[in-house]
Amino acid sequence: MSEKLLPCPFCGSDGKIYHEDIGDGYSKENIRWNTVICCVCYSESKSDLSEKHAVKNWNTRHYPPEIQAVIEAAKKLERLEILVDNWNEQETILISAVRALEEMDAKHETHG
Ligand SMILES: [Zn+2]
Repeated sequence: MSEKLLPCPFCGSDGKIYHEDIGDGYSKENIRWNTVICCVCYSESKSDLSEKHAVKNWNTRHYPPEIQAVIEAAKKLERLEILVDNWNEQETILISAVRALEEMDAKHETHG
């Protein structure tokens, strides 16, 4: 298994991968469905033929609406902070550019 299983979003318990081999009725080979199921509350991920995708389904499920709203708000706040950081950086550059110009002007005045 490559990706680590996150705790169950409903009760915080561990999840486990279950495999179900199902025949399609035509070929001798079975199809293996992978599902992550919580060991305590038995909530489960969307099943997938790939174990990796089943793990991804379990790890990226949406939370209940009120929790999802908080997560989205936090993401927006993070983007806002990046914007503010960029603005502060640009402001600092502008201020130092203005100071450099003022110093040049001052030198011109004293020498000229
Ligand atoms: Zn659970």
